[in-house]
Amino acid sequence: MLLIASANGSVGMAAGWTILRAGGSALDAVEAAARMVEANPDDHSVGFGGYPNLEGEVELDASIMDGATRRAGAVGAVCGYRHPITIARGVMERLPHVMVVGRGAERLASELGMERENLLTPESEASWREGRDGELPSSDSRRRLLDRVSSLFTDPEHVAGTVNFLAIDGAGHLASAVSTSGWAWKYPGRLGDSPVIGAGNYCDDRYGAAACTGWGELAIRGATAHTVVGGLAAGLPLELAAERAMNELRGLDVPGGEPIMQLVALDSAGHHLGLSSQPGNSYVAWEEGQDNYATLPRRLVPITGQ
Ligand code: ASP
Repeated sequence: MLLIASANGSVGMAAGWTILRAGGSALDAVEAAARMVEANPDDHSVGFGGYPNLEGEVELDASIMDGATRRAGAVGAVCGYRHPITIARGVMERLPHVMVVGRGAERLASELGMERENLLTPESEASWREGRDGELPSSDSRRRLLDRVSSLFTDPEHVAGTVNFLAIDGAGHLASAVSTSGWAWKYPGRLGDSPVIGAGNYCDDRYGAAACTGWGELAIRGATAHTVVGGLAAGLPLELAAERAMNELRGLDVPGGEPIMQLVALDSAGHHLGLSSQPGNSYVAWEEGQDNYATLPRRLVPITGQ
């Protein structure tokens, strides 16, 4: 058994591990763990209390994947429900689809019995007002805002974050879950990598799993999570498969900012790692025989330059 996560997943590790230890499935573990992060108002990158979009609305993306069947569910630009990971699981298990966005995802949430609520906390709202200079946009200031979108979007004070969970259960099955409110002040309707299967999330019992945080547009363009798992499928060891996925992003341009990419990955034998294009980052891992999760350094793999 194994549960790994991005560092902000630490608040969900106990919930996930309790399920694995009791013989539960990797799928249940990653969903339960992600729900803890989604409910945490202090995490401004996921769920309730997440930073809103340009218009002050909290829009959430999430996906979940079952490594045994390679079934997946994803939702994007969901408003008014704090647990997009559970809606994503609903897409996977209740609909003949993989990805549902916006109103459709919200409709499914209500059909699943979830309660609509306001996800914008006073703290996130205050940051948003400050970040985009106050008033709700009139059509004139909307036009001005459009000119500033790239710089707002890459504002280093309020960039983003996402939570990644990858698990192997006692039966040897893998699952992955990713949930985010995306980049602070993002353009309404923008989807990042988190709900895009193969970009921010991928999982296959035969080989391994990977999930990303960082500049979602890059992970989409590089199909980063799938590139890691594809490398494993081609016989590369985990280190090399993950490094190759980061190297594939080298030289890709991003508007007005420094490209940032982080990934966590594991192989079906239970090796795991975290990589980051920036120094000083960590991830968390809970392995069999441990009383608690450990915080581990991510290896630095720069993606700028040639
Ligand atoms: N990957 C997320 C997104 O682009 C943000 C992040 O993880 O920093 O929406």
